[in-house]
Amino acid sequence: MPSAYDQMWEKLNLDLEAHEGLLAVLGKFYGDIYMSQQGRLKGMEYLDFVLSEVHGLRIKELQDAKASGKKVVGTFCVFVPEEIVLAAGAVQVGLCAGAEIGKAEAEKVLPRNTCALIKSFVGFKLAKLCPFIESCDLIVGETTCDGKKKAYEIFAEYSPVYVMEIPQMKAACDRELWKSEVGRFKSTVEELTGNKIAAGDLRDSIHLVNERRRVLQRLNRLRAAVPVPISGRDALLINQISFYDDPVRFTAKISELCDELEQRVKSGAGIAPDGTARLMLSGCPMAVPNWKLPYIIESSRAVVVGEESCIGTRNTRDLVQEGSATLDDMIDAIVDRYMRIDCACFTPNTERLDNIVNMARELGVKGVIHYALSFCQPYSMEAYKVEKALSAAGIPMLAIETDYSMEDVEQLKTRVEAFVEMTR
Ligand code: SF4
Ligand code: SF4
Repeated sequence: MPSAYDQMWEKLNLDLEAHEGLLAVLGKFYGDIYMSQQGRLKGMEYLDFVLSEVHGLRIKELQDAKASGKKVVGTFCVFVPEEIVLAAGAVQVGLCAGAEIGKAEAEKVLPRNTCALIKSFVGFKLAKLCPFIESCDLIVGETTCDGKKKAYEIFAEYSPVYVMEIPQMKAACDRELWKSEVGRFKSTVEELTGNKIAAGDLRDSIHLVNERRRVLQRLNRLRAAVPVPISGRDALLINQISFYDDPVRFTAKISELCDELEQRVKSGAGIAPDGTARLMLSGCPMAVPNWKLPYIIESSRAVVVGEESCIGTRNTRDLVQEGSATLDDMIDAIVDRYMRIDCACFTPNTERLDNIVNMARELGVKGVIHYALSFCQPYSMEAYKVEKALSAAGIPMLAIETDYSMEDVEQLKTRVEAFVEMTR
């Protein structure tokens, strides 16, 4: 069916037929997984709307921003300091990479044993499916893992790509390296936008991004209540949308949703029947529309009460310290905040183990499901140490490796159900 946005998508050089297929699958998937839930908050209507317009209104906003002279910067990793992009007057969007629809195209240029996230972003580009990628003036990659690092070299043949070097250890020399990378990134963004970042701009953008983190921290505190007042799927969706919605509007809307959630918590109402097991997810980020595992868990007499992931607490736990007087001090505050990210690309990564155990204890979960994308070495290997740390704390863990296909749904469901039974 022709869409009101066809002209815009055509201008962005999308494959209209394939794109229509993608939207149809996405709509059906969303309907099955999200709209079938009972007792959702009224505030979720905003998220439903944003998702229904994910390739429509939001792309139109980006096009309007570009027409007014702004630049759009796309990212794949929470290491890219959004504060700098916003301070230069550009828009930052997180590129999702959570669907396997471009997999066949991706496998023409990538080895088959590449993680689904990498295949997804390469596939979306080659199959001309993503209006976000096509709206970007610059795509920022990072050297977090070997797969991504090499895939950006291929991606750069099709889109303007800039790669940040991410340290893999946390000694003083690694901080120095990261600081120089943040400086190099600042110069690149200034050159791209033609705007020199002033202290006042950076102060404002630090505050803006912190405010979005604060509202997500509030959401995390509220969802930890007993009984659980919001499904894990809805909380995940809010975190996913935080990456590409307008940050000011998003923060205001989620603040309203949190007010509603607070009332629900006060009233003692919950969304799951008594006896539903509280579980936590930990591991690789789940980008839109990767809702497979949360859906399986929440169809197995369990509810997800937290995600230790980049689309979860890893992205919201730490704030950039505010109150610095000079531009240099603000840059240092940014450097310090991002060095606290406990991605599995670091070695050793004991901070992550401590954070997982603390989070599981605070949330009072019955167990943790560790999720790694197939062929993701950093997270698959780190699962061993995570299990040991959790086991020492008396918390059971189930390690799952999967991708974006639906082929293993029944097998995963059997394993998750057995794990939930075991936690009782
Ligand atoms: S898991 Fe690591 S590589 Fe992936 S988004 Fe997070 S910080 Fe970046
Ligand atoms: S999921 Fe793992 S392998 Fe894939 S991009 Fe992220 S860190 Fe790399």
